[in-house]
Amino acid sequence: MTALVTGASRGIGKAIALQLAKDGFDVAINYASSAAMAEEVASTCAAYGVKALAVQCDVTDGAACAEMVKTVEEQLGGIDVLVNNAGITRDTLLMRMSDQQFDEVYNANLKSVFTLSKLVIPGMMKKRGGRIINISSVAGLYGNAGQTNYAAMKAGVIGFTKALSKEVGARSITVNAVAPGFIETDMTGELSENIKTDALARIVLKRFGQPDEIAKVVSFLASEDAAYITGQTIEVSGGLSL
Ligand code: NDP
Repeated sequence: MTALVTGASRGIGKAIALQLAKDGFDVAINYASSAAMAEEVASTCAAYGVKALAVQCDVTDGAACAEMVKTVEEQLGGIDVLVNNAGITRDTLLMRMSDQQFDEVYNANLKSVFTLSKLVIPGMMKKRGGRIINISSVAGLYGNAGQTNYAAMKAGVIGFTKALSKEVGARSITVNAVAPGFIETDMTGELSENIKTDALARIVLKRFGQPDEIAKVVSFLASEDAAYITGQTIEVSGGLSL
């Protein structure tokens, strides 16, 4: 079985790739520019005795996505699990947000989910099985000031997940989303101390999450044990309420 994880050079995607390799999946590790980091993730995955391939592709580029899916299908023999994890933030208040900041977040966080899902579904249809797991966010569930662009796309991912699950369920393909809260990665590392202190106060478990705590849930959704779960969004946020 093979998994393609987008944005797997760092953070949550890296933890997902490592966990899926541990679970026995051959893994394609997608990245945009962090080649050395992606190669290192691939070596660590390979140490679990699976095939691992680092593959560069900007997920906002449709032609590059098609090329990546072709490469992974040829080199790893198909794609059984797609994890749409790559994502960016361009945070600012709406009144200051440029069209470019909105469009960049749209292309990276929502359009890419459409593009890649469409590319892997034919192979999954043929195999009569597959898993698509989309990384959303608590921002998409509850909204967050300064993130109208990001929250809209992450909410869009949830709607996309529900709709697609209904289109492909008859072929035993499941489509689910995971909505992380504050997870310690480069993305949250950029936040100010004020925002972090404020967030911590609203987390029931009184700590930030770790990337492998998201990876464990993705691993479950990719497993046979989750065969009867589809169209769902699982929040993994330590009980955060925004
Ligand atoms: P990081 O910023 O740590 O890592 C982002 C990853 O995405 C990197 O591997 C990066 O590749 C890749 N990436 C970004 N843009 C592109 C692109 N255009 N094409 C291909 N790859 C790309 O992010 P996190 O690990 O924190 O976040 C991962 C996902 O989880 C995102 O979708 C994010 O929105 C979501 N999330 C994160 C939360 C958190 O608290 N951290 C909370 C809720 C959701 P490269 O290294 O090459 O740049």
